[in-house]
Amino acid sequence: MVVELIAVGTELLLGNIVNTNARFLAEKCAVLGLSIYNQSVVGDNRERLSDAVRIALKRSDILILTGGLGPTEDDLTKEVCAEVLGFPLVEDKHTRERIEEYLKNSYKKIPENNWKQALVPDGAKILDNDNGTAPGLIMEKFGKSVILLPGPPDELYPMFMDKVYPYLQGLQPETILSRMVKVCGIGESEVETKMLDLIDKQTNPTIATYAKTGEVHLRVTARASDKEAAKKMIKPVIKEIKNRFGDAVYATKEDITLEEAVVALLKKHNLTLTTAESCTGGLLSARLVNVPGVSEVFLQGFITYSNKAKRKLLDVNKATLKKYGAVSEQTAKEMAKGGVFATDSDVCIAITGLAGPDGGTDEKPVGLVYIACYLNDKITVEAHHFKGNRNKIREQSVMRALDLLRRSILEQYRK
Ligand code: ATP
Ligand code: MG
Repeated sequence: MVVELIAVGTELLLGNIVNTNARFLAEKCAVLGLSIYNQSVVGDNRERLSDAVRIALKRSDILILTGGLGPTEDDLTKEVCAEVLGFPLVEDKHTRERIEEYLKNSYKKIPENNWKQALVPDGAKILDNDNGTAPGLIMEKFGKSVILLPGPPDELYPMFMDKVYPYLQGLQPETILSRMVKVCGIGESEVETKMLDLIDKQTNPTIATYAKTGEVHLRVTARASDKEAAKKMIKPVIKEIKNRFGDAVYATKEDITLEEAVVALLKKHNLTLTTAESCTGGLLSARLVNVPGVSEVFLQGFITYSNKAKRKLLDVNKATLKKYGAVSEQTAKEMAKGGVFATDSDVCIAITGLAGPDGGTDEKPVGLVYIACYLNDKITVEAHHFKGNRNKIREQSVMRALDLLRRSILEQYRK
């Protein structure tokens, strides 16, 4: 089945906001095994929106529109779709009551235009909005489904997951199940090369690879008569991927991030962590702190940008800095060791490098980053030559640091 996404809003066209709803929806559709051939963005304009919906109806089975369900004059999505599909708008008592309940504490008298949101296309499925006033709506006609969702992501995401996701699953004749394998520390082309024979002969399950910064995701999708059968088909493929990539596989679950995998490993082995960052300026610590419950293992993060800070806080030798420079294997090692001694943690991961754009030399070009890991008196240090702009270099450094930490623990604690 083919899905088409239409994001509605002049703000999107002007670039004032980024169409993150489309990314979210497209990713979820991929998980559901639904194809997307077209996506569009339309301003808050009756005629152009109407045209976009008519065109999409010709070529797609399911339309998902986001935005423009609000109470103001420029919110037109519901009116336009109802008109195109020939659904009259009627007031829905249940929705009116929910709006009243939702807004009663915010206003003495609820503004008149909010009641506009209680109007629904006659015969549409109504998706209650637990985080706002505009309900989502599903209209079915000509064997097609037109799904309208509110624009704000904090309203859209839960509504989609709770109500639309199961609806879309139900529309499909077969059960489609997918699993994700996340691989780190190997480039996309190497992943593809290693997978080529499997990818070439794939029909069901299918394997798709997605390159991300510093990692590659592999999605295995199976179609079968029921969930159990699909699971059975996926299982050996996942096993084979794990065989081929070994330790490079850090997760076989959709929602696990690299930092979560790392924190889980630290917890598993009762290890406390310190970070010592120069060119990443706290980015690594921030990633770790993304993980709820990290306080159990994360003791302290040092941002030691200057040589003075490296010396003072991490006890890096003056002579080392002078002889080898701040961006060097030796300094990275001393930073990692210093971090452990300063906080009495079990492990410290240190990063020092040149994020650019200026400051590079022939000997030490922009993108040169040293990452060191000190764990149980063993220091591992890696030199990397990252490409890209300042941000990209810093992001890659963080990914590689997390991965070095992960691999160091695996190596020492392998049963
Ligand atoms: P509201 O009731 O808030 O008016 P709405 O359904 O009418 O909701 P819009 O008015 O189109 O939606 O957008 C409201 C806000 O939702 C935008 O200012 C923006 O912050 C967010 N938003 C809308 N569309 C998108 C999108 N495609 N991607 C990310 N955010 C979006
Ligand atoms: Mg609006």
